Amino acid sequence: MIDLSTLTIVKARQALTKGEFTARELTEACISATKEKDNDIHAFLEVFDDALTQADEADKKIKEGIDLPLLGIPVAVKDNMLVEGHIASAGSKILEKYRATYSATAVNNLLEAGAIILGRTNMDEFAMGSSTENSAYGITKNPHDLERVAGGSSGGSAAAVAGGMVLASLGSDTGGSIRQPGAFTGVVGMKPTYGRVSRSGLIALASSLDQIGPFTKTAEDAEIIYQVINGRDPKDSTTIEGDAYEENESRKIIGIPREFVEGEGVEPDVKKNFEEAVLKFKSLGYEVKDISLENLKYSLAVYYILMPAEASSNLARFDGVKYGLRELGETGIEDYFKTRGKGFGAETRRRVILGTYVLSSGYYDAYYGSAVSAKALITRELREIFKDIDILLTPTTPTPAFKIGERTENPLSMYLADIFTVPANIAGLPSISLPSGTVLREEKALPVGVLLSADLGQESIMFKASRDYLNENG
Ligand code: GLN
Repeated sequence: MIDLSTLTIVKARQALTKGEFTARELTEACISATKEKDNDIHAFLEVFDDALTQADEADKKIKEGIDLPLLGIPVAVKDNMLVEGHIASAGSKILEKYRATYSATAVNNLLEAGAIILGRTNMDEFAMGSSTENSAYGITKNPHDLERVAGGSSGGSAAAVAGGMVLASLGSDTGGSIRQPGAFTGVVGMKPTYGRVSRSGLIALASSLDQIGPFTKTAEDAEIIYQVINGRDPKDSTTIEGDAYEENESRKIIGIPREFVEGEGVEPDVKKNFEEAVLKFKSLGYEVKDISLENLKYSLAVYYILMPAEASSNLARFDGVKYGLRELGETGIEDYFKTRGKGFGAETRRRVILGTYVLSSGYYDAYYGSAVSAKALITRELREIFKDIDILLTPTTPTPAFKIGERTENPLSMYLADIFTVPANIAGLPSISLPSGTVLREEKALPVGVLLSADLGQESIMFKASRDYLNENG
């Protein structure tokens, strides 16, 4: 029996090479796990029917002695990434029947590295949300407590790994959508530097903030996936060359934005858990200092202007003509209203309205223009601080996973789940959430995470500190 709950990519690769099990057996184990558990959790929207065929091809290559970083490893992908020939709905009714005609570059990179694409995972519609409750296809539940959310918007990808149904998955992170569900479900979730991973074939939320990244059980596994998916891609002009940033030699200085951490509604036991993580870093030989970042507190406000502005523009393409759902009215404009009225959920409509408003004539300068300036200010402040520190450390979220339905009536309380994750998107920084233990809620142990962010392009420093913290070195 293959024990998926503890199996990592590294261990599985060794076992596959040694012939302890085959890629087919591993993939079958994943498929059985989804059959056994996913009725409750609902991490997957679809397990692909060609998964075993892919596994057989991997087995052939393994027999031939071919060695690839992900050969024979089943990986799940969020439903907003295109996999040629398969449906990609972005959690929306409007794309319910949309079938991808090509694969996202990140998906192609996985395939070239030998991975098996197991299936597509549930998400908040168009990646808008922090709980996966905005999916048009039902809620993903937290494997640690089925009454609670798995976080979002990549809740399905997080729960698929945390629930022991697949070894790794891809998510997308615009304001925290990989790191926050990672923390809520107790797995590693990583967002690369903006421009490191191609967005070609990713259904866009906010193009200047979106990045694809991995969910895994270990930092080492996350780095393996990151190495496979990153790189310059002519299909995404914002991608950068591998050597675009000079790697700093590895110092060990951690900065904690004290006022920010103290001021943002962090629940007492989450705070205590964070302080324990700080002590751990100290015991590992890291220098820890308090720092002051005056403008960090504006990140969430800035995000909720920039993101809807870009989202409203990106979603204009769903007009009932080019893609997906088409509802006919008397006139062209009526087709448009009917299609979008029926195809978009409430949160998507809210953001289209917000975004259109902040971009509209007369308000553009007051809202969008100011947010762009504030973004520059926050970015400059963060870049400056990385001259003194290597890692910025905060909790990933102020609270553990909340109950299903608890925040759906109050969008603002939902938005606050991203208070610590959003700054990395605003400044384009690489950022990773590591499981840091649990806190008790109603006698259930719920995972929480710590968030490490580094300067642009300094993924290797971040991964090194992550492996240190998770005791993966030696
Ligand atoms: N929760 C945030 C939002 O709703 C972040 C989403 C994301 O990163 N895709 O916008």
